[in-house]
Amino acid sequence: MAVLFISDLHLSASRPEINRVFFEFLRGAARSAQRLYILGDLFEYWAGDDDLGEPFNASVVGALAECSRGGPSLHVMHGNRDFLLGADFAAACNARLIGDPHSLDLFGTRTLLMHGDTLCTDDVDYQRFRAEVRTPAWRKEFLSLPLALRKEKIGALRERSEKEKRSKAPEIMDVNRGAVETMLREHGYPRLIHGHTHRPARHQHRVDGRTCERWVLPDWYESGGVLVCDEKGYRTQKP
Ligand code: MN
Repeated sequence: MAVLFISDLHLSASRPEINRVFFEFLRGAARSAQRLYILGDLFEYWAGDDDLGEPFNASVVGALAECSRGGPSLHVMHGNRDFLLGADFAAACNARLIGDPHSLDLFGTRTLLMHGDTLCTDDVDYQRFRAEVRTPAWRKEFLSLPLALRKEKIGALRERSEKEKRSKAPEIMDVNRGAVETMLREHGYPRLIHGHTHRPARHQHRVDGRTCERWVLPDWYESGGVLVCDEKGYRTQKP
């Protein structure tokens, strides 16, 4: 039975085409998998678990719950867009929230899972912002604001980040090779799977004389994609 990895779906009510692809994937290919890992940015944004009742969010959570019923176990990692996903979300779709990084044994190969944003260390401004918003204090304070105000603030942040992205050099928004190698070394040279950069690829890193493989997951802006892992190895396929 296969283990599937997806990330960077950026689901929102404004992209019905890809939502349809995702719902079909949950009813189809995902159903027969053993485990489904969502490595961050499932949603375009998440304002807090008190937004679970919003119709689009409810439809996604319902589809995930339906998929996991008699289907694969669901494992969800926070992305930079949906790091406010909490225990109520996880309970509603019968998923387990996993930390970043998360390591596991995958058919005998030690494998490290990450969203990928922490590897983009050249983007100093982003790392500063990330450090600020990922503290328990920030989270608590932000979640205490009224939902409508949180959505407003998130909208403004997204606009700012889109503007900043246009002025940043593309290589700044990719992973830093040194950061990748440090991670591989610290975790015993595992295989690494991450998303976030929207640059799907299979890379090889030579670290301390060892060869490590790094898989970068595709985003779901156009067609989407799934990394499939089973006894035979790894391959990417369309959802
Ligand atoms: Mn991301």
